[in-house]
Amino acid sequence: KYEETVVSEPADNVESPAAQGPLPVVAVVGRPNVGKSTLVNRILGRREAVVEDVPGVTRDRVAYETAWAGRAFTLLDTGGWDPEGEGMAARITAQAEVAVTAADVVVFVVDSVVGATDTDEAVVRVLRRSGKPVVLAANKVDGASGEADATALWNLGLGEPYAVSALHGRGSGDLLDAVLEALPDAPSETFDEETGPRRVALLGKPNVGKSSLLNKLAGEDRVVVDSVAGTTVDPVDEIVTLGERDWRFIDTAGIRRRVREASGAEYFASLRTATALERAEVAVVLVDASEPLAEQDLRIISMVEESGRALVLAYNKWDLLDEERREMLEREIDRQLVRVTWAPRVNVSALTGWHVDRLVRAMDTALEGWSTRVPTGRLNAFLGEIVAAHPHPVRGGKQPRILFATQADTKPPRFVLFTSGFLEASYRRFIERRLREEFGFAGTPIELSMRVRE
Ligand code: GDP
Ligand code: GDP
Repeated sequence: KYEETVVSEPADNVESPAAQGPLPVVAVVGRPNVGKSTLVNRILGRREAVVEDVPGVTRDRVAYETAWAGRAFTLLDTGGWDPEGEGMAARITAQAEVAVTAADVVVFVVDSVVGATDTDEAVVRVLRRSGKPVVLAANKVDGASGEADATALWNLGLGEPYAVSALHGRGSGDLLDAVLEALPDAPSETFDEETGPRRVALLGKPNVGKSSLLNKLAGEDRVVVDSVAGTTVDPVDEIVTLGERDWRFIDTAGIRRRVREASGAEYFASLRTATALERAEVAVVLVDASEPLAEQDLRIISMVEESGRALVLAYNKWDLLDEERREMLEREIDRQLVRVTWAPRVNVSALTGWHVDRLVRAMDTALEGWSTRVPTGRLNAFLGEIVAAHPHPVRGGKQPRILFATQADTKPPRFVLFTSGFLEASYRRFIERRLREEFGFAGTPIELSMRVRE
């Protein structure tokens, strides 16, 4: 009576899957017990697969490479993260949010026997906001009599509900056809081709040499632009051509202003820093190499770090350095700037123009790192290797593992790691360090977040 179809094939059966580029990701989301895992197993054609009524059963993978109709893709099973108890609805929507960042297409599974619940509606809102294509699976339609329940799910406003029985295979072929239809034609990795000038904030405490540097960089060749209309004191930007591209130096009026506020100077300086960062893509922080690193320098560097902008450190007034200070400087950097070892450091003299060209190259490098995107397939292959070579230490008889990872965002790069346990800070730092070595994130902060399977 029931159709028993083993629906997909192993990805390696597909002709030259590599030629298809990085595999698109299909995430299966929905409330607990709607049949997500059953559906994933159905798609993978695994009869032996673990589906348990007992919550909290550990499965050791969440991402599977598979193929349908000759098209390979990665299937992401969020079933292992079934949240329960307090705040369940909020946790389900949070989970959907993460899955959606990772996915090219979302399969949203609803239990058609139960019908759409408030939680389902909340997930729909998340899915809508994401703008990602969604295929609605009306599950548990085991026979023709269930079709009406599936039809009722048109109400969710996600288009046609695909009536399926994950348990028996009914309708799963049509569902997969719809998934394939929704897959993007090209690989999901898009490198933003930036047009127009890149935005840079020149930061540093008073007298560090900001206006001198700006004068050196701009020379005669500068265009002054009014930026934000309608503000009380319009900051004025300058566009300068350096190397291969145009740069918009933000709020140069603030930099060039010779009048120092008599009182509250520090406050105005931080305010300027914060607003300039808001508009910038990359920050160049000038420090005075001839003096010990000041509290204010560190504060500005932290502000950049927190803003998630790319960062270049410029050690100015290098012409004033003697041997003694130079040695001290290295120790000082080791001690006080460990948090930003990823930032390119350039020694310059704004007065003479020495190494100013290197500064421009460092700005380019930092922007490149800031917008780098690592394809999901490559990221997981790489993590697989390093984790095999350096597994997380066993803690209390358990060994947390990374099951799947995805780069959710750029500018700055943000990674989400799906894990089977909490990764210690030292291990996260190790992962970050290796990611930097492999993919070259010079000049950019990296964010690593974890989703621990419940
Ligand atoms: P998940 O929590 O969303 O991953 O749900 P599971 O895949 O673990 O399924 C929850 C329960 O629903 C299990 O007892 C399954 O056997 C059952 N189930 C899943 N799909 C179907 C279906 O198509 N028909 C019926 N009758 N039961 C199903
Ligand atoms: P701002 O307040 O950060 O804009 O700093 P200024 O550009 O006004 O520079 C403050 C002082 O430091 C001025 O007297 C500059 O001539 C001097 N200065 C700036 N850069 C250098 C440098 O690289 N070497 C030396 N020796 N002096 C510099």
